[in-house]
Amino acid sequence: MGENQWKERLERCERVLIGLGEEWKLCKGQEERKEQVLKGYEVLYQWVKNKDYFIITMATDGVIFDTLLGSSQEVVVSQKEEWEEGLACKEADLEMLARMDQVFPKKEIRQDTRWQRIVAPCGNETWQQCSRACTKDIWEPGEIPSGICPHCGALLIGNTIDAPVYIEEGYLPQWQRYTQWLAGTLNRDTVILELGVGFNQPGVIRFPFEKTAYFNQKAFLCRVNGKFPQVPKELEGRTEGFLGDSVTWVLEGV
Ligand SMILES: [Zn+2]
Repeated sequence: MGENQWKERLERCERVLIGLGEEWKLCKGQEERKEQVLKGYEVLYQWVKNKDYFIITMATDGVIFDTLLGSSQEVVVSQKEEWEEGLACKEADLEMLARMDQVFPKKEIRQDTRWQRIVAPCGNETWQQCSRACTKDIWEPGEIPSGICPHCGALLIGNTIDAPVYIEEGYLPQWQRYTQWLAGTLNRDTVILELGVGFNQPGVIRFPFEKTAYFNQKAFLCRVNGKFPQVPKELEGRTEGFLGDSVTWVLEGV
């Protein structure tokens, strides 16, 4: 542990999976912490901007969507399929490729915006839902200035797991993208950065990340946590754990 293998792995890997846990959640009034977290997002952006990545966050403040990571203009670099790359290098194979294109439909290379590479399964406070959950409609900031549900007249509240009935339609389309992307990481050089995820809801990030790393022999799991940095024995040689606040760790890892 503590050999800083993660950094070298991160530099050469094809794909990066990032999980942001409780330590990245912001509460109102934490201005100093907010500044730190914003800087942390900037560092993460530098780390992944030229990679094929996905971010899953437990934060519900929606702050990440206002950073470069949440850009709806910029597109994420997507990996071409390996066979395509291999063939494309050789001139002689171009003809064969062209012939194959006639037989098989051309594989689409996914062009997601950065915004589409983030999923927030615990919801987003800046989006609104009906407090009585009379509808699955979700409204973006400013769409309903009165804050009253146009269907039933109840108050609108943040679309998060803290709602009495959480309308999950807010994150499900992104969740689907995430699971599809994750399936594509199997047997690919993938660095898994788990930052500040404790045991509050371990079924969202912590346990699935361990499982992903376990089944993908080419994966490397880096876990950073202020209290629980322990890593599974089964992943020996393919994992590192660091004790410490993960936001500070990211800022120091530049
Ligand atoms: Zn309603």
